[in-house]
Amino acid sequence: MAHQEPGWDGAGFTTRAIHAGQDPEATTGSVIVPIYQTSTYAQEDIGAHRGFEYSRTDNPTRSALQTAMAALDGAHGSLAFGSGMAAEATIMALLQPGDHVIASDDLYGGSYRLFDKVFGRYGIVFDFVDASRPPEVERAFTAETRMVWIESPTNPLLKIVDLSAMARLAQGAGALLVVDNTFATPYLQRPVELGADIAVYSATKYLGGHSDLVMGIASVASEELYHRLKFHQNAIGAVPGPMDSWLLLRGLKTLALRMERHERNALGVARYLEGQKGIERVIYPGLAAHPQRELAARQMAGYGGIVTIEVAGGIDGARAFMGALRLFVTAESLGGVESLADHPAIMTHASVPPELREAAGISDGLIRLSVGIEDEPDLLQDLDRGLQALLSTQ
Ligand SMILES: *Cc1c(COP(=O)(O)O)cnc(C)c1O
Repeated sequence: MAHQEPGWDGAGFTTRAIHAGQDPEATTGSVIVPIYQTSTYAQEDIGAHRGFEYSRTDNPTRSALQTAMAALDGAHGSLAFGSGMAAEATIMALLQPGDHVIASDDLYGGSYRLFDKVFGRYGIVFDFVDASRPPEVERAFTAETRMVWIESPTNPLLKIVDLSAMARLAQGAGALLVVDNTFATPYLQRPVELGADIAVYSATKYLGGHSDLVMGIASVASEELYHRLKFHQNAIGAVPGPMDSWLLLRGLKTLALRMERHERNALGVARYLEGQKGIERVIYPGLAAHPQRELAARQMAGYGGIVTIEVAGGIDGARAFMGALRLFVTAESLGGVESLADHPAIMTHASVPPELREAAGISDGLIRLSVGIEDEPDLLQDLDRGLQALLSTQ
């Protein structure tokens, strides 16, 4: 299968999101890519097929999605998986026992669990370092280092990692650079263009954007690595079904519009909460107070839709604040059109051991807000309810 169509160079982001891999269907003219809900394909003669043999290997709806994603990421090719973790596990299966991985110490909790509790048992050795400080990464390399695994902005502390610097370090050591680009999306940041070998996504979040699917994507820089990962996609088989692939294709079409609104609202929320009584810290890469705002501006086209705050009073303060919110639903996940509030220490990052959590700065008063695309005044009014409740406990 051709994975990257020629002809999209120069076309804008949303044009690619709507058209790449999505020509009208040949038999009926269907403008929208059909949901090819089939597991297998008729062969005209033994071994004579039209590029589709079995839907674990290739499915036309999934192929269209993969082509669109590659066009958005500026990648050689993209591969879709049944979840972000399925994409991550398939990438890790490229490694062998004895291989060493340098990973950021401020990772999505499920990534940490996958590395520590699963791939650690297969003899892969992990070092977790503060990747927002390149010299710490540089010091962590060994003769066995085969992969550097970075998230930027990080979850939940929104530290920014210099992706070009990471690419130089990884390349110099012959290691693969993998960037979890879930928070930024290809609209705001394209790791492959900054030198990463793989950009990996939980498409469950912003790419899908409507909190109605679970999927993963890996976008790959080179043809050689694309074929190696595609082999593993088929061999391991953690693929999404055609219905979810179709939903994600639909989500991608509005990614740029949604990200712009998420960002506008997030900046409004961050500015509103900054300096309020009871709010000890507001972390948002677009605030002048963020120590890495310049780096973010250099490698990103915007600052994203996540705002992390620290409330006074630890767990009790967090409970009071979150309990009073009506629009910000208390829930795991992020990146949907609706606003969500997460308490990392108890919810998403519970699988990270307490001492690591504390060392990384994930305190009991920390709340991660996924700012949705609702009307900003309503969101601010909701947060004001949280503030009132918080102050009444102090
Ligand atoms: C949610 C998430 C994942 C895991 O993806 P799933 O789709 O839930 O399997 C990985 N990385 C980040 C940054 C995430 O937010």
